[in-house]
Amino acid sequence: MLNHFPKIELAYFDNNALMIKAARDNRIRAFVADLQVANYYLYIGPKNGQFIDVKHLYSGDIHYATSQSNVSLMESIIADFKHVGKQDLQRIYGRWMHIETVYPSYLPAIAISGIVIMLLIYLVILKHVVRTKTQELSAENVQLKYLSETDALTGLWNRRYFLDKLKYFRRSNSNLTVMIIDIDNFKIVNDTYGHIKGDVVIKHVSEKIKALTNSSHIVARIGGEEFALAFIDQPVCFSDELAHRICESVRDIDLDEIDGLPVTVSLGCAIYHCASDFETLYEADKLMYAAKKQGKNQAVVEYIPTQVEPSQALE
Ligand code: GH3
Ligand code: MG
Ligand code: MG
Repeated sequence: MLNHFPKIELAYFDNNALMIKAARDNRIRAFVADLQVANYYLYIGPKNGQFIDVKHLYSGDIHYATSQSNVSLMESIIADFKHVGKQDLQRIYGRWMHIETVYPSYLPAIAISGIVIMLLIYLVILKHVVRTKTQELSAENVQLKYLSETDALTGLWNRRYFLDKLKYFRRSNSNLTVMIIDIDNFKIVNDTYGHIKGDVVIKHVSEKIKALTNSSHIVARIGGEEFALAFIDQPVCFSDELAHRICESVRDIDLDEIDGLPVTVSLGCAIYHCASDFETLYEADKLMYAAKKQGKNQAVVEYIPTQVEPSQALE
């Protein structure tokens, strides 16, 4: 005991009966006894469930014991024991070999409460982890969706998103404006100043377009130096004015990176009377090329009336 528990205050008793009585009277908090001895005294005493069996020191068989030299006594005991009846033997064994772990009555309740509390804590933690993971995943999904729909260089929408939105616009019965804007002679910028400076020009042009539009307009970079713009529900004069203002605004770009080289765009603007008539970017593209043909640095705007079916036209 002293080796294992050097700091513990030990009490000494002349025999086990006294020690266990002291334990029952709460004069000592714990005791160490051979399992059979402890069980015997606990078994014959009042069953108040006061003690918890912490560790079995010994639980083997009972042996006859005499002094080592007294072989004849031992032989006589062994011989006489054979005459003891089965029932009596059982009674003796039952008294001395009875092994019972004595648990206090409150222990099962404590154990069950402990398990329930652990389970509840586990469930709370699990719920928290699931919620945090779900939030992280949905944030990542939002981020992934954003990355899949935007252009990294300019922060504008990309071609895929633009075409998707156009499909959505088509379902409306409003008028629809589609513009294609292409930077003029951009190859010269790249060839003379390199791609990085070229990117700076692309960014500045995108800023100019952004500054003239709002959240109801879909502005996208649909190719290397090519942008697209679409919106619905605006009068023709608004679209016409905006197309020319974009060209003007880009003209103001003055960048040291390209030694103040003029930056201009050619813009094709198709205004559909009804969005559902819209098929492809073909018209806006055609108008943009018309602007190129006419000397670049300008907008060509065309109003496209509702297509009338030949059968309807005859009526
Ligand atoms: P045009 O006036 O007829 O439009 O002539 P252009 O030189 O602008 O047109 P072209 O199609 O001949 O050249 C466009 C160039 O844009 C070619 C390509 O190397 C460059 N380009 C495409 N994507 C990018 C990009 O992301 N960054 C940069 N810096 N250049 C790009
Ligand atoms: Mg170009
Ligand atoms: Mg181009």
